[in-house]
Amino acid sequence: MVLLKNLVVIGQGAPNQLRDGRQSRCVCAYSLDDKVLIRLYPFPVYMLRKWDVFDAEVEKNPIDHRENTWKIKNSKEDWKKIYRWVTIKGEYPKDKQEDLIKSIGFSTLSEIRDNKKSFGIILPVIKDFKLEQQNKSTIKQMTLGDVEDLDVPYTIINQKDYKYKPYVVYECVGDCKCKDKTHCQSITEWGCFEFMRKNAGKEINLKDNLQLFNEEYNKYILVGNIYKAPQTYVIIDILRFKKKKK
Ligand SMILES: [Zn+2]
Repeated sequence: MVLLKNLVVIGQGAPNQLRDGRQSRCVCAYSLDDKVLIRLYPFPVYMLRKWDVFDAEVEKNPIDHRENTWKIKNSKEDWKKIYRWVTIKGEYPKDKQEDLIKSIGFSTLSEIRDNKKSFGIILPVIKDFKLEQQNKSTIKQMTLGDVEDLDVPYTIINQKDYKYKPYVVYECVGDCKCKDKTHCQSITEWGCFEFMRKNAGKEINLKDNLQLFNEEYNKYILVGNIYKAPQTYVIIDILRFKKKKK
């Protein structure tokens, strides 16, 4: 068992269903003590919001070999009692969040991939936004277990059951060695899927909601690699901060 202290949630993927029916998501946290980005996976859909500061008792996942990847102690047995192992200590101060991201530092996609990093933050030049239709409509499927016990007033929808899958096209600022300098990656940010759930029929407005082309916002792209193909990265979160007025 390992106790990780002073972690800050900086990104979280939308829920997906594990083979055994549990609804899970991927949490990306920054360790204020060790100055590294870590992955907590799987993690239940309740508990932990972006910018929460927390401690967690974790263990290695014997089948997931991605860098700095942990699962919560006894996560399978204690799936509905994960609070036994996670202590929320407060929220990272709003006015210091952008500085925290800058202090982590920026990389290019090629650097992140070539160093087999689990995560990295990219300063992007955003080129385009796309919605790819993956289902005829969003499928609200009742799932086993978790949800009925929770005080959640709606059905949690898995990423793959949404009508659309969002993509962002960007280039890295810096010396990116990728063959194709223009990256088109799917975005798994939970907030994006929540937006599509709440704005069915107007999903395209997600582009504006993300402030992708709004000059008043600084944008940083948090990417993470995927379990089945660790060389492949997706966008976990687009961190966006309104520019401070001078
Ligand atoms: Zn690049």
